[in-house]
Amino acid sequence: MFENLSERLGGVFDRLTKQGALSEEDVKTALREVRVALLEADVSLPVARDFVKKVQDQATGQSVTKSVTPGQQVVKIVHDALVEVLRGEGEPGALKVDNPPAPILMVGLQGSGKTTTTGKLAKRLKDKDGKRVLMASLDIYRPAAMQQLQVLGQQIGVDVLPIVAGETAVQIAKRAKTQASLGGYDVYMLDTAGRLQIDQTLMKEVEDVRDVVNPRETLLVVDGLTGQVAVEVAEEFDAKIGISGVVLTRMDGDGRGGAALSMRAVTGKPIKYVGLGEKMDALETFEPERVAGRILG
Ligand code: GDP
Repeated sequence: MFENLSERLGGVFDRLTKQGALSEEDVKTALREVRVALLEADVSLPVARDFVKKVQDQATGQSVTKSVTPGQQVVKIVHDALVEVLRGEGEPGALKVDNPPAPILMVGLQGSGKTTTTGKLAKRLKDKDGKRVLMASLDIYRPAAMQQLQVLGQQIGVDVLPIVAGETAVQIAKRAKTQASLGGYDVYMLDTAGRLQIDQTLMKEVEDVRDVVNPRETLLVVDGLTGQVAVEVAEEFDAKIGISGVVLTRMDGDGRGGAALSMRAVTGKPIKYVGLGEKMDALETFEPERVAGRILG
């Protein structure tokens, strides 16, 4: 497995003479190790480079506290800087769902965990916030995906818009909107069609749906294990559709979570939730400290 960054830095500093302050040379040596640790955690190279530069400026000249070793001190500086980059503005996980019925548009690649996350989030809104939620699948290309949402709805006790054969995605979105108003729902969630890769026709379809419902939140669901690909997907969706936040799934896997840092640094969009398993309650708000710890190993 990966070598722990603290141990690694401990080794580096043992070889250096102890001084009262972190010298530029000490910091440079340590940050080479930090950069390797970030790359091993799947942080993209430009992001790792910028991050290390930022930490270098902060760390140089800091006096070394007596109670900790220089290695521990650098780890703390790096940890705090990671948390700062990872933390978006606002409260983690807080969604704009006032002014009912509030539309939430769920977008992402096929297999990213979009439908599962739609169910998890609906359940959370219902159980934790007491919201009445309606879900609708817009995946007219895959009847199985529509069925999957129906099944999830029954399982978690959330209403799902009935399936009507032959409708376009925009027609379903309009029907969901009407039903949400008439039925007195607080929130309606639209699970858009997944695609294997970025596809301009499907992107246009999501744009049309967006223009019809004017979503309060547009959440991009991405597989947290896909690293750099996840960041590219986020950039593309944000450019075309405009996203308000990201949900990183499969954070229960072995990945080190570096995608979270790249995602935040490159898109500037907040990561709102992380998926931690297949079950309907395996969704948590994004905690920067936890992910920072995981990236550092
Ligand atoms: P979609 O095509 O994007 O709608 O993807 P699905 O929601 O159908 O999910 C694809 C697979 O990933 C399913 O087997 C889900 O149970 C699984 N999955 C979704 N989210 C997570 C997660 O956070 N962790 C794990 N381990 N599996 C997940």
